[in-house]
Amino acid sequence: MKVLVAVKRVIDYNVKVRVKADQSDVDLANVKMALNPFCEIAVEEAVRLKEQNHADEVVVVSIGPKAVQEQLRTALALGADRAIQVETDSMPDSLSVAKLLKEVIAKEEPDLVILGKQSIDADNNQTGQMLGALTGMPQGTFASKLVVEDSAVSVTREVDGGLQTLRLKLPAIVTTDLRLNEPRYASLPNIMKAKRKPLDVMSTDDLGVTVGSKVELLKVETPPERSAGVKVADVAELVDKLKNEAKVL
Ligand code: AMP
Repeated sequence: MKVLVAVKRVIDYNVKVRVKADQSDVDLANVKMALNPFCEIAVEEAVRLKEQNHADEVVVVSIGPKAVQEQLRTALALGADRAIQVETDSMPDSLSVAKLLKEVIAKEEPDLVILGKQSIDADNNQTGQMLGALTGMPQGTFASKLVVEDSAVSVTREVDGGLQTLRLKLPAIVTTDLRLNEPRYASLPNIMKAKRKPLDVMSTDDLGVTVGSKVELLKVETPPERSAGVKVADVAELVDKLKNEAKVL
């Protein structure tokens, strides 16, 4: 089985995000970037499938400028076999990503495609679903468990009221939730080995897709500062304040 994993370069989750002075976007200057955490979980799952002899090849793909190669190398150090960068000037919107991934799927013919459920920069949570719609492949989103069966995968999904289990005929698309697994750390020898693993670069023209955006970013604002709280002496004072000041009782 061949597994294709889509990975995105995002701001590291430990970084306190700054907004540009003109509010046109988030400031990315000199900011530490990383593999999107849900994509890390996707890579881990694919590598585990390989270790369990369900998968024989794990290919990672990222769409974006040359800098995304850094995250592709991270994915290779975590155990992926080969990487593909689809080169674009800037980060394209989800629909363009889904259209490009559809063409990569047509070329690579994977049995299973794993994506993160969401990228933590824009919180879109839509690329996997769009890819499902464009390809007609069955999809299991928010997976917290994945079991390979003969020519199918069983996916347990975290839904509002509990867990839902689906059986998807391969080839299929799965998006990862937080509890699917705990990703490993890349060891130093594997980081060194990753430098020699194949990384192909494709252009959007190679895939016959015109990248455009139907979404215009109007403004980015920081959340309003929280005003300081007050300490109350006892429950009676708390109830009084809730009744007479906050008027919520
Ligand atoms: P989103 O819909 O933007 O929240 O992203 C969900 C998932 O789609 C991510 O976790 C990735 O697996 C995939 N994805 C989004 N953008 C890209 C990209 N530029 N390159 C590769 N995969 C991406």
